[in-house]
Formats: sequence, structure tokens, C-alpha cells
Amino acid sequence: MKKLLSVILLAGFAVSALAQQAEQAPEAVRLVDTTSRPIERQQKGKYSFFEDGVFFSNEFDGARLTQIERTGKDSYTITITPENAPVNMSPWYAFRVRSIKKKEISVKLVYPEEAKHRYSPQISRDGVRWHPLDEKFITEEEKGTGTSGPESRPKRAVLQLTVDSKPLWISAQELENSAKVFAWMDDLAKKRNLQIAEIGKSTEGRPLRMMTIGDPQAKKMMLVISRQHPPEVTGYFAMQAFVEEIAGDSKLAKEFRKDWTVYVVPLMNPDGVDNGHWRHNAGGIDLNRDWAMFNQPETTAVREFLKKKEAETGGKFYFGIDFHSTWNDIYYPMERGISGSMPDLVWNWLDNIQKAIPNYKPKIQANKRLEPTMVSRNYFLKAHGMEAIVFEIGDNTPREFIEKKGKIGAVELMNLLIDAKQ
Ligand SMILES: [Zn+2]
Repeated sequence: MKKLLSVILLAGFAVSALAQQAEQAPEAVRLVDTTSRPIERQQKGKYSFFEDGVFFSNEFDGARLTQIERTGKDSYTITITPENAPVNMSPWYAFRVRSIKKKEISVKLVYPEEAKHRYSPQISRDGVRWHPLDEKFITEEEKGTGTSGPESRPKRAVLQLTVDSKPLWISAQELENSAKVFAWMDDLAKKRNLQIAEIGKSTEGRPLRMMTIGDPQAKKMMLVISRQHPPEVTGYFAMQAFVEEIAGDSKLAKEFRKDWTVYVVPLMNPDGVDNGHWRHNAGGIDLNRDWAMFNQPETTAVREFLKKKEAETGGKFYFGIDFHSTWNDIYYPMERGISGSMPDLVWNWLDNIQKAIPNYKPKIQANKRLEPTMVSRNYFLKAHGMEAIVFEIGDNTPREFIEKKGKIGAVELMNLLIDAKQ
């Protein structure tokens, strides 16, 4: 039965070539229908190969392993399929393996039709600390011909893994499931005396948690969101560094928080993340196309929160930032001249970031079209006059540089907002 489902899914699979490139669908004119659609659930379980003494599992939040087949002694093929299609080419996978005896095994990762092996594996012995699997243990099949983006990626990959009786985790990116994200929030909240509230629930009943940095009565407000798209862990890392700096104990941060309050939703799509989705939420929808129709609970919760908070405080949201990941680092602002209540804020910020990082030339792609709003940035600007930007980090950007960018981004933004006169 499991196999049959997978075959059906493989046959009906289509990756949108356009969506691969245009993370933000910047010039999309046609409103995307965001009415919920069915999703394919992976079967959770243990996959035991007694002849080899090797055991696989996808029984943890964030796992994705659709099907596994033994192809020879200590050799396996794992098929990874998406939650539904069409879908962006961000084939997330995560699984765990152990062996009675220490040995080397071979695991081939295969993807349906147009999808390729996008993410080079991260591995972990405890599910908490991760590092990249050394390239010498990865054999790429049908290599890409391009130098960047989807064209640069191979069709499949064979991983050579050393396994023993202790579990080995293999994941497309570092595993940042809801439990891990919420633990980070709780730790930071405790350390910095922040409030955490629930602004709603996802389709599967997971909390949509928001952290408040600063005085909840403050009239100058900004919003930070991330993980609308489950695999986009590098953008999430930048968000963490950004938020930690604003919540931190620097002189600048303390000064900033006298007037400003920052609201943060670190995990917009907890269902998608915990189910190991490639892109969508439990409604089978790309949340970052739902900021016009608001058919999904996650986007609706943020919309209602923004309205409520402005009404409650008599204040205003001036800035909104949405963290994502894509093939390379890039900033997606709106074009100069399409602005809200603090014109040029975003462009001055980008200039200052460039000055603050020696020899760094940020890649910037401005968007011209505000409506239909569909994506968060456009909604923030259209509905609240917020200056807004999409902050994208590359899949493979060095993790230390991500942290640096997040932190410098926070410092430069706080400097500008403290000086700004509203
Ligand atoms: Zn994204």
C-alpha cells in the first residue's frame, strides 16, 4: 500500500520550474488560489533490515523518508517525495539509522521527476549538534552542468555512512523542528525576560508562538517572521542572530528598546516543519502566497495580531522582516519609491549593512509590484504602511557568516530607527 501511494505520487509530481527561481514570485499578477488542498502523509515507522542488522527510522518531528528499499548487502535506496504538487524544488529529507555492528552502508537518495538533490546532508549523533557530511562520502549521480541554482545540482546522491549502535541522524539541513525552536524561544525569554504568547493555532493544533521584545504598550513596533517554508533553516539562523542582538544587553539595544518593541514569530509553519514538508503547511498551501486571500490559519493569526496590537496601543508597525532561504544570499525589498511611513529606511539600511561588512556587496533585487499582496512583505506595506523586506540566506552560506549578517543587520536597523523621526 505504501509503495502504491508513492508510485501514484511520483506520477503526479511536478516541480514548477518558475517557482524554483522566483522564491518571491515578485512579478506575479495572477492571484494564487490558497484554498486548502490535500497533502500526502508519509508513513512513520521503523524500517528494519535484519539481514544487515541495520535499522532506519523516520519517527521524529521534522523527519522525511517516504520509502526505503534494500538493493544489496548494506545498500539502500530512499525515496523522498513532497507533501503535494506542484511544489517548489526544495526536497527536504531527514531520517535516522543505526546498526548492530559498526559498518559502512550506502544510502542512495532519489527524488521524483524534475526534483534534484538540492541539500547536501548534515549529520548528527544526538539530533542536536550538526555538521556537514564530508564531500568525500557523497557520490553525485547525473551531475548538474550549471555553476549555481538548480542547474548545478545532481539528480541523485549516494551517501557512504559509517553506522554503529548509536543513532546517526541525516538531514537536508540542521534539524530545527518545533520542539527545538520553542526551546530556543523559552531559553531566550528566560535569559532576557521576554514574554511569549500564542497568537493562534495551526491546522494540526500546534501553537503559533510569538515573542515580545520590549514594552508591550510601546507605540513604535516592528514585526519579525521566519520559517513560512519548512526547509529554510539558514534564514531561520539569521533571524535568531538578528533577534538575539535586539534582545541583548548592548547599550544600543537597551536604548532601542526604550521606544521600540519587536514582535517575533520564529516558526510560521510548525505543521510543515514537523511533518518534514518541502514547502507547504498542513493545508497543502505555500503560506507566502496567502497574504491576500488569508485562507490559512497561520497568516490569518498574524494579520489579526497586527490589527489588534495597533488598536490596543494606538501605535504603529513601521517595519516588517521575513526571513527565508534560497540558493544564494539575496535581499528582496520593494523598489525605491514604493514605500510606507518611513521612506528610504530599507535602502539606507542596506547601504549601512554594506558599509559595515568589509568587502561585502549584498545582492539586492527590488520588486515593483505591490498587488496582489500574496507575500508577507507586500501585505505589511499595503495594509500597515510598514517598510518591509524579505531577507534570504543561501542554503550553503557559512553558518558564522549568517550569524554575522543577522547581528549586523540588527545593529544597523536599530541605529536607523533610533534616529528616525516619526
Ligand atoms: Zn522561502
